[in-house]
Amino acid sequence: MTNASPVLILIGAPAAGKGTLSAPFIADGFMSISTGDMLREEVKKRSPLGLEAAAIMQNGGLVSDNIIIGMVRERMQTTPATGYIFDGFPRTVPQAIALDALLAERGLNNVHVLRLDVDDANLISRVEKRYNDAIAAGQTPRADDNPETFAKRLAAYRDYSAKVSAYYGDRLMAIDGNNGPEQTLKAAQRVTGISFPPTSPQGQANSRIMPII
Ligand code: ADP
Repeated sequence: MTNASPVLILIGAPAAGKGTLSAPFIADGFMSISTGDMLREEVKKRSPLGLEAAAIMQNGGLVSDNIIIGMVRERMQTTPATGYIFDGFPRTVPQAIALDALLAERGLNNVHVLRLDVDDANLISRVEKRYNDAIAAGQTPRADDNPETFAKRLAAYRDYSAKVSAYYGDRLMAIDGNNGPEQTLKAAQRVTGISFPPTSPQGQANSRIMPII
C-alpha cells in the first residue's frame, strides 16, 4: 500500500532556519518530528533519557542512534493529516537508513530531502541574536546556544551533513537559506512542489503562501 502524503526531511546547520521553515508546514497540518525538541522535552521532564541526553547536548555531541531512532519510531505511530516534516533527523547514515525503512514500512514514497545551506557568518549572527533575544525577553537561552558549544555543534554538522548528503546523493536538493524566511519558504515550495491551500488566516482565498510567524 502506498501513501502519497508528502514527507519533508530538512537538513541544515544549527540556526540555519529549520524550525522557521517548518512552522508554515506544521500550521498546514504536517506532523513535526524534531529530535532536538523531543530531546529538550525529555531534559525538561528529567526522564532517564533526558538526563543521559543533557550532558551530550550541552557538549554539542550526538545522542546515540538507538535512542534517536526509537524516539522517532514511537512518534510515527500516529498518522498526521497532511504530511511529515523531519527537523534535525537524520544526523547519521544509520539514522538515514532507519528512516528509509520507517517510511517504506508505511508506504510513504513522496519524500523530499531538503538541505538548507547557510554561511557560517550568518549562522553565528543568528545564534547570537537568538541568545540575546531570549535574555531580553526574560527567558533562559538554550543551554547549547553559547559560543563554545555552538562551535562544536557547527563542526559536528559539517562532518555529519557531508556523510548524510552523500548517502542521499541525487535525492537531496539544496536551497540557499541565507535569505529571509519568506524567500526560503518559496524556494522550498518551488523545489518540492508542495503548496498550501489557497486560504489566508481570515479565510479569504487570496494567498497560496502561509504567513510566517
Ligand atoms: P541544532 O540547532 O543544533 O540543529 P537541535 O535542536 O536539532 O539543534 O538538536 C540539539 C541537540 O540535540 C544536538 O546538538 C544533539 O546533541 C541532539 N540531537 C538532536 N537530534 C539528534 C539526532 N538526530 N541524532 C543525535 N543527536 C541529536
